[in-house]
Amino acid sequence: MYQTNKIVQALYKYSPKFIHDFMYSVHGLIKISQHNMIKKNYLNNFEKIENLPLEEIKSLQFEKLKKMINHSYKNVPFYRNLFTNLQLDPGDIKSLDDMKLIPTLKKNDILKNYDDLIALNSIQFNPTQRSTGGTTGTSLSFLMDERNYTLRETELLNHWKQHSYNSDKDRSIVFRADVLIPRGRKIKKAWRYDLLRKTYHFSAYYTSEDILFEYYSIMKNFRPKYMQALPSTAYIFAKYLNQNNYKINLNKVFTSSEILYESYRNEIERAFNCEIIDHYGHGEPGTYVAGQCKDGNYHIPCSNVYFEISNDGTIIETSLNNYSMPFIRYEIEDRVDKIFYNCGCGKQTPYFKKIFGRVSDYLVTPDGRTITGIGFDQVFKGTNILNGQIIQTDLNHININIVPQENYSEYNKNELLNKLRERLGNDIKISINIVERIDLTPGGKQKLVISKINKSTNF
Ligand SMILES: [Zn+2]
Repeated sequence: MYQTNKIVQALYKYSPKFIHDFMYSVHGLIKISQHNMIKKNYLNNFEKIENLPLEEIKSLQFEKLKKMINHSYKNVPFYRNLFTNLQLDPGDIKSLDDMKLIPTLKKNDILKNYDDLIALNSIQFNPTQRSTGGTTGTSLSFLMDERNYTLRETELLNHWKQHSYNSDKDRSIVFRADVLIPRGRKIKKAWRYDLLRKTYHFSAYYTSEDILFEYYSIMKNFRPKYMQALPSTAYIFAKYLNQNNYKINLNKVFTSSEILYESYRNEIERAFNCEIIDHYGHGEPGTYVAGQCKDGNYHIPCSNVYFEISNDGTIIETSLNNYSMPFIRYEIEDRVDKIFYNCGCGKQTPYFKKIFGRVSDYLVTPDGRTITGIGFDQVFKGTNILNGQIIQTDLNHININIVPQENYSEYNKNELLNKLRERLGNDIKISINIVERIDLTPGGKQKLVISKINKSTNF
Protein backbone atom coordinates (compact mmCIF):
# COMPACT_ATOMS: atom_id res chain seq x y z
CA MET A 1 0.00 0.00 0.00
CA TYR A 2 2.79 2.35 1.00
CA GLN A 3 4.67 1.44 -2.19
CA THR A 4 1.55 2.06 -4.29
CA ASN A 5 1.14 5.48 -2.70
CA LYS A 6 4.76 6.32 -3.47
CA ILE A 7 4.28 5.31 -7.10
CA VAL A 8 1.07 7.33 -7.39
CA GLN A 9 2.80 10.34 -5.82
CA ALA A 10 5.77 10.07 -8.19
CA LEU A 11 3.43 9.71 -11.18
CA TYR A 12 1.52 12.77 -10.03
CA LYS A 13 4.66 14.80 -9.59
CA TYR A 14 6.02 14.24 -13.07
CA SER A 15 2.75 14.19 -15.06
CA PRO A 16 1.07 17.00 -16.98
CA LYS A 17 -2.25 18.40 -15.82
CA PHE A 18 -4.46 16.26 -18.05
CA ILE A 19 -2.99 13.14 -16.41
CA HIS A 20 -3.80 14.71 -13.02
CA ASP A 21 -7.39 15.22 -14.19
CA PHE A 22 -7.50 11.60 -15.29
CA MET A 23 -6.23 10.47 -11.86
CA TYR A 24 -8.92 12.55 -10.14
CA SER A 25 -11.54 10.95 -12.41
CA VAL A 26 -10.30 7.44 -11.56
CA HIS A 27 -10.57 8.40 -7.90
CA GLY A 28 -14.09 9.65 -8.65
CA LEU A 29 -15.01 6.31 -10.18
CA ILE A 30 -13.78 4.47 -7.07
CA LYS A 31 -15.82 6.81 -4.86
CA ILE A 32 -18.98 6.32 -6.96
CA SER A 33 -18.73 2.56 -6.67
CA GLN A 34 -18.01 2.75 -2.92
CA HIS A 35 -20.98 5.09 -2.41
CA ASN A 36 -23.29 2.81 -4.41
CA MET A 37 -22.32 -0.08 -2.16
CA ILE A 38 -23.02 2.06 0.94
CA LYS A 39 -26.38 3.23 -0.39
CA LYS A 40 -27.34 -0.37 -1.08
CA ASN A 41 -26.16 -1.93 2.19
CA TYR A 42 -25.75 0.67 4.93
CA LEU A 43 -27.50 3.99 4.41
CA ASN A 44 -31.09 2.92 5.04
CA ASN A 45 -30.24 1.21 8.31
CA PHE A 46 -28.19 4.20 9.45
CA GLU A 47 -31.08 6.57 8.71
CA LYS A 48 -33.53 4.25 10.44
CA ILE A 49 -31.49 4.18 13.66
CA GLU A 50 -30.98 7.95 13.65
CA ASN A 51 -34.76 8.41 13.50
CA LEU A 52 -35.73 6.02 16.30
CA PRO A 53 -37.13 7.32 19.61
CA LEU A 54 -34.33 8.41 21.96
CA GLU A 55 -34.80 5.55 24.42
CA GLU A 56 -34.37 2.98 21.65
CA ILE A 57 -31.29 4.77 20.36
CA LYS A 58 -29.78 4.70 23.86
CA SER A 59 -30.58 1.07 24.33
CA LEU A 60 -28.93 0.18 21.01
CA GLN A 61 -25.89 2.23 21.98
CA PHE A 62 -25.60 0.43 25.29
CA GLU A 63 -25.77 -2.99 23.58
CA LYS A 64 -22.94 -1.96 21.27
CA LEU A 65 -20.95 -0.52 24.15
CA LYS A 66 -21.24 -3.73 26.17
CA LYS A 67 -20.01 -5.69 23.17
CA MET A 68 -17.06 -3.35 22.73
CA ILE A 69 -16.12 -3.44 26.42
CA ASN A 70 -16.29 -7.24 26.55
CA HIS A 71 -14.17 -7.48 23.43
CA SER A 72 -11.62 -5.00 24.81
CA TYR A 73 -11.35 -6.83 28.12
CA LYS A 74 -10.90 -10.15 26.36
CA ASN A 75 -8.62 -9.15 23.48
CA VAL A 76 -6.90 -5.81 24.16
CA PRO A 77 -3.93 -5.97 26.59
CA PHE A 78 -4.22 -2.29 27.55
CA TYR A 79 -7.83 -2.69 28.67
CA ARG A 80 -7.25 -6.08 30.27
CA ASN A 81 -4.57 -4.44 32.46
CA LEU A 82 -6.62 -1.33 33.13
CA PHE A 83 -9.68 -3.29 34.27
CA THR A 84 -7.55 -5.64 36.35
CA ASN A 85 -5.75 -2.75 38.07
CA LEU A 86 -9.05 -1.03 38.83
CA GLN A 87 -10.61 -4.33 39.95
CA LEU A 88 -13.34 -3.63 37.45
CA ASP A 89 -15.27 -6.30 35.62
CA PRO A 90 -17.00 -5.63 32.28
CA GLY A 91 -20.20 -6.78 34.03
CA ASP A 92 -19.92 -3.75 36.35
CA ILE A 93 -20.94 -1.51 33.45
CA LYS A 94 -24.70 -1.90 33.79
CA SER A 95 -25.85 1.37 32.21
CA LEU A 96 -24.54 4.27 30.15
CA ASP A 97 -23.94 6.18 33.39
CA ASP A 98 -21.56 3.45 34.57
CA MET A 99 -19.21 4.35 31.72
CA LYS A 100 -17.78 6.94 34.10
CA LEU A 101 -16.16 4.09 36.03
CA ILE A 102 -13.69 3.77 33.15
CA PRO A 103 -11.00 6.47 33.12
CA THR A 104 -10.68 8.62 29.99
CA LEU A 105 -8.07 7.82 27.36
CA LYS A 106 -5.79 10.70 26.37
CA LYS A 107 -3.74 11.17 23.23
CA ASN A 108 -0.58 10.64 25.28
CA ASP A 109 -1.90 7.29 26.57
CA ILE A 110 -2.26 6.17 22.97
CA LEU A 111 1.24 7.33 22.02
CA LYS A 112 2.67 5.48 25.04
CA ASN A 113 0.62 2.28 24.76
CA TYR A 114 0.19 1.96 21.02
CA ASP A 115 0.94 -1.76 20.73
CA ASP A 116 -1.08 -2.71 23.81
CA LEU A 117 -4.15 -0.94 22.42
CA ILE A 118 -4.24 -3.20 19.38
CA ALA A 119 -6.59 -6.16 19.76
CA LEU A 120 -4.89 -9.55 19.63
CA ASN A 121 -7.44 -10.57 16.99
CA SER A 122 -7.24 -7.25 15.10
CA ILE A 123 -6.52 -8.94 11.79
CA GLN A 124 -10.07 -10.26 11.51
CA PHE A 125 -11.40 -6.70 11.28
CA ASN A 126 -9.29 -5.96 8.22
CA PRO A 127 -7.85 -2.72 9.60
CA THR A 128 -5.68 -0.12 7.88
CA GLN A 129 -3.29 2.21 9.59
CA ARG A 130 -4.35 5.83 9.57
CA SER A 131 -3.10 8.94 11.23
CA THR A 132 -4.20 12.40 12.13
CA GLY A 133 -2.57 15.44 13.65
CA GLY A 134 -5.62 17.65 13.89
CA THR A 135 -4.71 21.14 14.94
CA THR A 136 -1.80 20.07 17.14
CA GLY A 137 1.67 19.15 16.01
CA THR A 138 1.68 15.58 17.30
CA SER A 139 0.57 13.11 14.69
CA LEU A 140 -1.49 10.24 16.07
CA SER A 141 -1.50 6.84 14.38
CA PHE A 142 -4.19 4.22 14.89
CA LEU A 143 -5.84 1.26 13.22
CA MET A 144 -9.27 1.53 11.70
CA ASP A 145 -11.52 -1.41 10.84
CA GLU A 146 -12.66 -1.61 7.26
CA ARG A 147 -16.28 -1.63 8.46
CA ASN A 148 -15.73 1.43 10.64
CA TYR A 149 -14.36 3.28 7.63
CA THR A 150 -17.45 2.34 5.62
CA LEU A 151 -19.75 3.52 8.41
CA ARG A 152 -17.97 6.87 8.44
CA GLU A 153 -18.63 7.34 4.77
CA THR A 154 -22.25 6.44 5.56
CA GLU A 155 -22.38 9.30 8.09
CA LEU A 156 -21.17 11.70 5.44
CA LEU A 157 -23.60 10.50 2.78
CA ASN A 158 -26.45 10.67 5.28
CA HIS A 159 -25.52 14.25 6.18
CA TRP A 160 -25.41 15.34 2.55
CA LYS A 161 -28.59 13.48 1.68
CA GLN A 162 -30.52 15.38 4.34
CA HIS A 163 -29.55 18.53 2.50
CA SER A 164 -30.39 17.09 -0.93
CA TYR A 165 -26.78 16.83 -2.07
CA ASN A 166 -25.59 13.90 -4.16
CA SER A 167 -21.81 14.22 -4.40
CA ASP A 168 -21.63 11.65 -7.20
CA LYS A 169 -24.01 13.47 -9.52
CA ASP A 170 -24.38 17.13 -8.62
CA ARG A 171 -21.98 19.64 -10.15
CA SER A 172 -19.69 20.62 -7.27
CA ILE A 173 -16.63 22.53 -6.23
CA VAL A 174 -14.42 20.95 -3.57
CA PHE A 175 -11.67 23.06 -2.05
CA ARG A 176 -8.94 20.68 -1.00
CA ALA A 177 -5.77 21.03 0.99
CA ASP A 178 -4.08 18.37 -1.12
CA VAL A 179 -4.25 19.85 -4.60
CA LEU A 180 -0.65 20.91 -4.86
CA ILE A 181 1.24 22.10 -7.85
CA PRO A 182 4.44 20.02 -7.84
CA ARG A 183 7.38 22.06 -6.66
CA GLY A 184 9.35 23.92 -9.30
CA ARG A 185 6.34 24.45 -11.56
CA LYS A 186 4.73 27.81 -12.11
CA ILE A 187 1.57 28.09 -10.04
CA LYS A 188 -1.25 28.30 -12.52
CA LYS A 189 -4.41 26.28 -13.06
CA ALA A 190 -4.53 25.34 -9.37
CA TRP A 191 -7.44 23.01 -9.93
CA ARG A 192 -8.13 19.49 -11.14
CA TYR A 193 -11.33 18.16 -12.71
CA ASP A 194 -13.06 14.87 -11.92
CA LEU A 195 -15.09 14.31 -15.06
CA LEU A 196 -17.09 11.39 -13.67
CA ARG A 197 -18.37 13.15 -10.57
CA LYS A 198 -18.60 16.53 -12.31
CA THR A 199 -16.43 18.02 -9.58
CA TYR A 200 -13.74 20.67 -9.71
CA HIS A 201 -11.11 20.30 -7.00
CA PHE A 202 -9.71 23.74 -6.21
CA SER A 203 -6.54 24.08 -4.19
CA ALA A 204 -7.04 25.66 -0.79
CA TYR A 205 -3.34 26.53 -0.77
CA TYR A 206 -3.26 28.95 -3.66
CA THR A 207 -5.54 31.89 -3.08
CA SER A 208 -3.82 34.87 -4.70
CA GLU A 209 -6.17 37.28 -6.50
CA ASP A 210 -5.21 35.85 -9.92
CA ILE A 211 -6.09 32.36 -8.86
CA LEU A 212 -9.29 33.42 -7.10
CA PHE A 213 -10.32 35.11 -10.34
CA GLU A 214 -9.58 31.84 -12.15
CA TYR A 215 -11.81 29.97 -9.67
CA TYR A 216 -14.55 32.53 -10.15
CA SER A 217 -14.35 32.26 -13.95
CA ILE A 218 -14.58 28.48 -13.83
CA MET A 219 -17.63 28.62 -11.56
CA LYS A 220 -19.32 31.20 -13.78
CA ASN A 221 -19.14 28.82 -16.77
CA PHE A 222 -19.53 25.54 -14.92
CA ARG A 223 -22.50 26.65 -12.79
CA PRO A 224 -21.99 24.27 -9.83
CA LYS A 225 -24.78 23.66 -7.35
CA TYR A 226 -22.72 22.84 -4.26
CA MET A 227 -19.39 23.69 -2.72
CA GLN A 228 -17.34 22.01 0.02
CA ALA A 229 -14.61 24.01 1.77
CA LEU A 230 -12.95 24.83 5.07
CA PRO A 231 -14.73 27.84 6.58
CA SER A 232 -11.57 29.96 6.30
CA THR A 233 -11.07 29.11 2.62
CA ALA A 234 -14.71 29.73 1.77
CA TYR A 235 -14.46 33.01 3.67
CA ILE A 236 -11.33 34.21 1.84
CA PHE A 237 -12.92 33.37 -1.51
CA ALA A 238 -16.27 34.92 -0.53
CA LYS A 239 -14.58 38.11 0.63
CA TYR A 240 -12.78 38.39 -2.70
CA LEU A 241 -16.04 37.87 -4.60
CA ASN A 242 -17.96 40.40 -2.49
CA GLN A 243 -15.22 43.03 -2.76
CA ASN A 244 -15.27 42.72 -6.54
CA ASN A 245 -19.03 42.47 -6.77
CA TYR A 246 -18.86 39.05 -8.41
CA LYS A 247 -21.91 36.89 -7.78
CA ILE A 248 -22.18 33.10 -7.83
CA ASN A 249 -25.45 31.39 -6.86
CA LEU A 250 -25.14 28.00 -5.17
CA ASN A 251 -27.73 25.70 -3.56
CA LYS A 252 -25.59 25.07 -0.44
CA VAL A 253 -22.05 25.46 0.87
CA PHE A 254 -20.79 22.62 3.10
CA THR A 255 -18.05 23.46 5.61
CA SER A 256 -16.17 21.44 8.23
CA SER A 257 -12.94 21.07 10.29
CA GLU A 258 -12.69 24.62 11.61
CA ILE A 259 -14.92 26.99 13.51
CA LEU A 260 -17.49 28.61 11.27
CA TYR A 261 -17.51 32.11 12.76
CA GLU A 262 -20.60 34.25 12.34
CA SER A 263 -18.57 36.77 10.32
CA TYR A 264 -17.50 33.97 7.97
CA ARG A 265 -21.06 32.76 7.62
CA ASN A 266 -22.38 36.20 6.69
CA GLU A 267 -19.69 36.81 4.11
CA ILE A 268 -20.08 33.34 2.54
CA GLU A 269 -23.87 33.58 2.46
CA ARG A 270 -23.66 36.97 0.74
CA ALA A 271 -21.22 35.73 -1.93
CA PHE A 272 -23.05 32.53 -2.81
CA ASN A 273 -26.61 33.53 -1.95
CA CYS A 274 -27.31 30.28 -0.08
CA GLU A 275 -27.35 28.50 3.25
CA ILE A 276 -24.10 27.25 4.85
CA ILE A 277 -24.23 23.75 6.37
CA ASP A 278 -21.39 22.90 8.74
CA HIS A 279 -20.31 19.64 10.29
CA TYR A 280 -17.97 18.64 13.07
CA GLY A 281 -15.73 15.58 12.87
CA HIS A 282 -12.18 14.29 13.24
CA GLY A 283 -9.87 11.60 11.95
CA GLU A 284 -9.71 9.35 15.01
CA PRO A 285 -12.33 6.63 15.56
CA GLY A 286 -15.42 8.38 16.95
CA THR A 287 -17.41 11.23 15.46
CA TYR A 288 -16.81 11.66 11.78
CA VAL A 289 -19.81 13.77 10.82
CA ALA A 290 -21.92 15.52 13.44
CA GLY A 291 -23.81 17.51 10.85
CA GLN A 292 -25.97 20.59 11.19
CA CYS A 293 -29.65 19.92 10.61
CA LYS A 294 -32.02 22.43 9.04
CA ASP A 295 -32.29 24.12 12.48
CA GLY A 296 -28.51 24.60 12.61
CA ASN A 297 -27.84 22.05 15.38
CA TYR A 298 -25.03 19.48 15.27
CA HIS A 299 -26.62 16.01 15.59
CA ILE A 300 -24.40 13.25 16.99
CA PRO A 301 -24.29 10.04 14.87
CA CYS A 302 -25.39 7.67 17.66
CA SER A 303 -25.03 4.40 15.83
CA ASN A 304 -21.28 4.93 15.49
CA VAL A 305 -20.29 6.72 18.69
CA TYR A 306 -21.13 7.15 22.35
CA PHE A 307 -20.54 10.81 23.06
CA GLU A 308 -20.02 12.44 26.46
CA ILE A 309 -19.02 15.97 27.42
CA SER A 310 -16.98 16.76 30.54
CA ASN A 311 -17.69 19.77 32.75
CA ASP A 312 -15.37 22.04 30.78
CA GLY A 313 -16.94 21.02 27.46
CA THR A 314 -14.22 18.57 26.39
CA ILE A 315 -15.56 15.83 24.14
CA ILE A 316 -15.17 12.24 25.36
CA GLU A 317 -15.96 9.57 22.82
CA THR A 318 -16.21 5.82 22.50
CA SER A 319 -16.26 4.45 18.98
CA LEU A 320 -18.89 1.71 18.83
CA ASN A 321 -17.48 -0.04 15.78
CA ASN A 322 -13.69 0.06 15.79
CA TYR A 323 -12.65 -3.34 17.15
CA SER A 324 -9.05 -3.56 15.92
CA MET A 325 -7.98 -0.71 18.21
CA PRO A 326 -10.74 0.33 20.60
CA PHE A 327 -10.69 3.86 21.99
CA ILE A 328 -12.92 3.85 25.06
CA ARG A 329 -13.77 7.28 26.51
CA TYR A 330 -11.20 9.00 24.33
CA GLU A 331 -10.69 12.69 25.12
CA ILE A 332 -10.79 14.72 21.95
CA GLU A 333 -8.98 18.03 22.25
CA ASP A 334 -12.05 19.95 21.13
CA ARG A 335 -14.77 21.55 23.18
CA VAL A 336 -18.47 22.08 22.53
CA ASP A 337 -21.27 23.73 24.57
CA LYS A 338 -23.39 20.84 25.92
CA ILE A 339 -25.69 18.03 24.90
CA PHE A 340 -29.28 18.95 24.06
CA TYR A 341 -32.29 16.81 23.20
CA ASN A 342 -35.58 17.31 21.29
CA CYS A 343 -34.43 19.36 18.35
CA GLY A 344 -37.08 21.31 16.47
CA CYS A 345 -36.15 19.44 13.28
CA GLY A 346 -37.84 16.31 14.66
CA LYS A 347 -34.76 14.08 14.90
CA GLN A 348 -34.40 12.39 18.27
CA THR A 349 -30.60 12.11 18.33
CA PRO A 350 -28.79 14.32 20.86
CA TYR A 351 -27.05 17.40 19.57
CA PHE A 352 -24.78 20.30 20.49
CA LYS A 353 -25.12 23.86 19.29
CA LYS A 354 -21.65 25.37 19.40
CA ILE A 355 -18.06 24.24 18.84
CA PHE A 356 -15.40 26.12 20.77
CA GLY A 357 -12.29 24.14 19.82
CA ARG A 358 -10.34 23.97 16.64
CA VAL A 359 -9.01 27.46 16.42
CA SER A 360 -6.26 27.72 13.89
CA ASP A 361 -4.02 30.62 12.98
CA TYR A 362 -3.11 31.57 9.44
CA LEU A 363 0.08 31.87 7.50
CA VAL A 364 0.53 34.66 5.01
CA THR A 365 3.06 34.26 2.19
CA PRO A 366 5.07 36.99 0.41
CA ASP A 367 3.20 36.11 -2.81
CA GLY A 368 -0.04 37.23 -1.17
CA ARG A 369 -1.65 33.97 -0.09
CA THR A 370 -3.44 33.50 3.22
CA ILE A 371 -3.25 29.84 4.23
CA THR A 372 -5.09 28.14 7.05
CA GLY A 373 -2.99 26.25 9.58
CA ILE A 374 -5.33 23.25 9.35
CA GLY A 375 -3.57 20.38 7.64
CA PHE A 376 -0.07 21.69 8.28
CA ASP A 377 0.55 18.84 10.72
CA GLN A 378 1.11 16.74 7.57
CA VAL A 379 4.50 18.39 7.00
CA PHE A 380 5.84 16.67 10.10
CA LYS A 381 4.50 13.26 9.17
CA GLY A 382 7.04 10.53 8.37
CA THR A 383 10.03 12.77 9.04
CA ASN A 384 11.19 11.37 12.40
CA ILE A 385 9.81 14.40 14.16
CA LEU A 386 7.96 13.84 17.40
CA ASN A 387 6.35 17.22 17.64
CA GLY A 388 6.42 20.46 15.72
CA GLN A 389 5.17 24.02 15.65
CA ILE A 390 5.11 26.69 12.95
CA ILE A 391 5.55 30.32 13.97
CA GLN A 392 5.33 33.18 11.52
CA THR A 393 7.28 36.16 12.86
CA ASP A 394 6.82 38.49 9.87
CA LEU A 395 5.74 38.32 6.25
CA ASN A 396 9.10 36.94 5.11
CA HIS A 397 10.03 34.58 7.96
CA ILE A 398 8.74 31.32 9.33
CA ASN A 399 10.28 29.62 12.36
CA ILE A 400 9.75 25.91 12.74
CA ASN A 401 10.30 24.43 16.19
CA ILE A 402 10.74 20.70 16.19
CA VAL A 403 11.25 18.00 18.79
CA PRO A 404 13.23 15.39 16.83
CA GLN A 405 13.19 11.65 17.38
CA GLU A 406 16.45 9.77 17.87
CA ASN A 407 16.93 8.88 14.21
CA TYR A 408 16.11 12.34 12.85
CA SER A 409 18.63 13.21 10.14
CA GLU A 410 19.66 15.85 7.60
CA TYR A 411 17.57 13.90 5.08
CA ASN A 412 14.48 14.40 7.27
CA LYS A 413 15.25 18.09 7.58
CA ASN A 414 15.32 18.40 3.78
CA GLU A 415 12.09 16.42 3.52
CA LEU A 416 10.46 18.83 5.95
CA LEU A 417 11.80 21.84 4.05
CA ASN A 418 10.51 20.46 0.75
CA LYS A 419 7.04 19.92 2.19
CA LEU A 420 7.00 23.45 3.57
CA ARG A 421 8.23 24.93 0.27
CA GLU A 422 5.48 23.07 -1.61
CA ARG A 423 2.94 24.84 0.52
CA LEU A 424 4.55 28.20 1.22
CA GLY A 425 6.58 28.83 -1.95
CA ASN A 426 10.24 29.71 -2.40
CA ASP A 427 10.18 33.35 -1.32
CA ILE A 428 9.76 32.88 2.42
CA LYS A 429 12.74 32.31 4.72
CA ILE A 430 12.32 29.15 6.80
CA SER A 431 14.40 28.50 9.94
CA ILE A 432 14.26 25.11 11.63
CA ASN A 433 15.06 25.06 15.34
CA ILE A 434 15.49 21.95 17.44
CA VAL A 435 13.80 22.33 20.82
CA GLU A 436 13.25 20.05 23.80
CA ARG A 437 9.53 20.66 23.96
CA ILE A 438 6.80 22.77 22.42
CA ASP A 439 5.36 25.34 24.81
CA LEU A 440 1.68 25.09 25.58
CA THR A 441 -0.87 27.91 25.58
CA PRO A 442 -2.17 29.17 28.96
CA GLY A 443 -5.17 26.90 28.32
CA GLY A 444 -2.83 23.89 28.21
CA LYS A 445 -3.13 23.29 24.48
CA GLN A 446 -0.48 23.20 21.88
CA LYS A 447 -0.97 25.39 18.86
CA LEU A 448 0.33 24.04 15.59
CA VAL A 449 0.48 27.42 13.88
CA ILE A 450 1.13 30.75 15.58
CA SER A 451 1.04 33.97 13.63
CA LYS A 452 2.72 37.05 15.08
CA ILE A 453 1.93 39.36 12.21
CA ASN A 454 -1.09 41.57 11.62
CA LYS A 455 -3.19 39.64 9.24
CA SER A 456 -4.28 41.30 6.06
CA THR A 457 -7.72 39.83 6.46
CA ASN A 458 -9.95 41.00 9.23
CA PHE A 459 -11.39 38.08 11.11
ZN1 LIG B 1 -32.10 19.05 14.39
